[in-house]
Amino acid sequence: MGADLSYVHPTANSPWGTYLSQVDRVVPYLGDLARWAETLKRPKRALIVDVPIEMDNGTIAHFEGFRVQHNMSRGPGKGGVRFHPDVTLEEVMALSAWMTVKTAAVNLPYGGAKGGIRVDPKKLSQKELEKITRRYTSEIGIIIGPHTDIPAPDVNTNAQIMAWMMDTYSMNIGGTATGVVTGKPLHLGGSLGRVKATGRGVFVTGREAARRLGLDLRGARIAVQGFGNVGSVAAELFVEAGAKIVSVQDHTGTIVNENGLDLKALIPLSRADGLVSFKGGDVIANEAFWDVACDILIPAALEGQITAERAKKTTAKLVLEGANGPTVPVADDILAERGVLVVPDVICNAGGVTVSYFEWVQDFSSFFWDEDEINVRLDRIMMNALNNIWDTADKHKITLRTATFAVACERILMARQERGLYP
Ligand code: NAD
Repeated sequence: MGADLSYVHPTANSPWGTYLSQVDRVVPYLGDLARWAETLKRPKRALIVDVPIEMDNGTIAHFEGFRVQHNMSRGPGKGGVRFHPDVTLEEVMALSAWMTVKTAAVNLPYGGAKGGIRVDPKKLSQKELEKITRRYTSEIGIIIGPHTDIPAPDVNTNAQIMAWMMDTYSMNIGGTATGVVTGKPLHLGGSLGRVKATGRGVFVTGREAARRLGLDLRGARIAVQGFGNVGSVAAELFVEAGAKIVSVQDHTGTIVNENGLDLKALIPLSRADGLVSFKGGDVIANEAFWDVACDILIPAALEGQITAERAKKTTAKLVLEGANGPTVPVADDILAERGVLVVPDVICNAGGVTVSYFEWVQDFSSFFWDEDEINVRLDRIMMNALNNIWDTADKHKITLRTATFAVACERILMARQERGLYP
């Protein structure tokens, strides 16, 4: 695997281990740039911060926070902030590295970064959530900024949290810096289309992949794991295109309905109480989700979900990676051997960062575009990137994942080479 960093101990299926193995697979396609490849295996900068807050009951609680800037050869760091009890430095490193690859794959002028706090936000009051967000922002304030590193929402973070981050950073510098985060509320410099952008990108790339596979979306059966921002929006767009959602899983459980779940009823309910309170489907065991007969599988929750065992049994012909890092390397090989096409995370879910880029550009110019313009530009960028990756995959007879890494890593390492090493 290389990169003998003393502060992480990746395993074959852990997020950083998965990422390292993806880099190893692309090296043979990098030509002379391969001499720079080690740079991809080391984060440029990793910050661990203590986030102390006074809880509503008067006690003082300490939380562990991270911000990792993996690579900034092509531009400022870009990547979300995750609030989750399982967040670790290693996970944030992998997520930041996938951002480097993703921004390069769609050719945005960014590097890759990511942040997180090890906390279960569902156990915090709104006041505590605001305090933890503000203190974390202030602690990482020494390395973020509109020209250096621009956070955004990820799992369990949203526009309100971005507003608090923007305000805290702005208070600390004595001005208003809307461009320091993206995914903000509309009236604070947010962009139309941002909330739905990632799900829309999953749909646009998935529709094109289905077309190339000869898979008709009308009547296609789709199973979705993770029914938050990404999963629910992608599901809605596929239903509009004639597909049916036959199974959905979230952190509360799994439901199934082979005739198709009624999303209009399901989505508001899942946001409030989670899926299992929904009456329009049968509750099944979580592991049975991977056996549900489907044509398309959309993992849109967390990393490491598609294991070897699950890859062997899925009936899907197409996997659309809405989540980051949902497939472990050995499962990737099994899916390829079984002829299951995987549209990898680093292109499939790049719609969010693409509209984040539009938001950042609009903030700097203080001129805002309408939603049609956003969507037309988004669709164009996603389709161009996907077609380019598909040509690379065909040329070298490699998977779409390795092809995406090949296109992206060439851009990253070319920038590295042209900039040269300082001093
Ligand atoms: P979210 O918080 O809106 O939703 C997460 C969903 O996953 C929820 O439905 C939750 O119930 C479910 N979930 C959590 N733990 C689970 C478990 N153990 N089993 C099954 N389901 C579980 O988050 P999101 O923004 O939709 O992000 C989902 C994934 O997409 C993450 O991997 C994230 O990194 C990735 N992603 C998000 C964006 C974005 O713009 N939001 C962009 C790119 C990639």
